[in-house]
Amino acid sequence: MALIVQKFGGTSVGNPERIKNVARRVARYRAQGDQVVVVVSAMSGVTDGLIKLAREIMPLPTEREMDMLLATGEQTTIALTAMALHALDLAAVSLTGSQAGILTDDVHTKAKIQDIDPKEIHSLLDAGNVVIVAGFQGRTADGRITTLGRGGSDLTAIALAAAIKADLCQIYTDVDGVYTADPRIVPGARKLPEISYDEMLELASLGAKVMQSRSVEFAKKFGVVFEVRSSLNDNPGTIVKEETQNMEDVVIRGVSLDKNQAKITLVAVPDRPGVAARVFKAIGEAAINVDMIVQNISHGSGQPATDLSFTVDKPDLLKTRKVIDALRGEIGYEEVIADENIGKLSIVGVGMRSHSGVAAKMFETLASEGVNIGMISTSEIKISVVIDLARGEAAMRAVHAAFLG
Ligand code: ASP
Ligand code: MG
Repeated sequence: MALIVQKFGGTSVGNPERIKNVARRVARYRAQGDQVVVVVSAMSGVTDGLIKLAREIMPLPTEREMDMLLATGEQTTIALTAMALHALDLAAVSLTGSQAGILTDDVHTKAKIQDIDPKEIHSLLDAGNVVIVAGFQGRTADGRITTLGRGGSDLTAIALAAAIKADLCQIYTDVDGVYTADPRIVPGARKLPEISYDEMLELASLGAKVMQSRSVEFAKKFGVVFEVRSSLNDNPGTIVKEETQNMEDVVIRGVSLDKNQAKITLVAVPDRPGVAARVFKAIGEAAINVDMIVQNISHGSGQPATDLSFTVDKPDLLKTRKVIDALRGEIGYEEVIADENIGKLSIVGVGMRSHSGVAAKMFETLASEGVNIGMISTSEIKISVVIDLARGEAAMRAVHAAFLG
């Protein structure tokens, strides 16, 4: 007998039939004698629909009322899921985040969990119930409803698993697990039996969106081992856990391609102290996230100048140009070049720490495909290159074949 947290995302509870499927799956675990806490998201599309509804009333509703509104999405699902379990003659009780004892700070729409008091959950489980908890929500110390940021049901599940010391935490979604690459682009991509928290975080930040990053960070911090798996079949998924020795045997865990970046180059910026600080301070103040930065060595006679390139999220490109244009008089540069047609190709793996020649192999693979590298950045477990967007998918397949084929 195990204590299990099972989280079902929006598509997994997307219609009545799927909710009944969730109930049937839970029933199987109950039949084995397991205790089950179910965390559910809003039915797919519901949260977006509520946001749209609010905007039709006024452009900028208060965040307190947004939370009040968005929390109803998950509240609908918990009640329906409880009913689906009742229909199978199972005892089940639904709880809002607040009733489940999830306490947050008071930052509406992106609240952080501060504490969980699992008393109510434990007593309901002990009385023989399946407990169904609304994901994505909690309450402040003074009783206001809060939400945890988009995708926050993952965080609810991980945090609850830690608080009740669950034996198992399963994240059910519409994919079979975490893959070595996007199978829609790389036909040879494989499902990974396991992956470390750090690799999962790198892949998530690279756009391989399986789970909310914050929830993976939380799992890492509290050592919550979890499994990402499909609610549409019974295949085993991917176990996400702390790195183990043998994980380093594999050099590369995955390859990802981020098509959502744009590159800005400031040509001939004066090479003197304070220029980079000025540029990136202004960009930071505009709440624009910068990813890669490359500065060339100085060239030219007289006043030395250098080229400064960096990447931002594509939707931020216009905003970034405005910020840079406004700095022209102050710092002086020759021209600005913006390039939207780039892709960021990355390889990720903890094995990089103990294997040499990984970068060389990646660059050789790209060279033999005739793909030019525009920028390079590395971390301990990741190498990223900026390349021509049009060559991105072919380059991804070649790199995947070289390391994982
Ligand atoms: N319903 C929320 C959202 O769509 C939370 C979640 O699905 O995890 O962002
Ligand atoms: Mg979701």
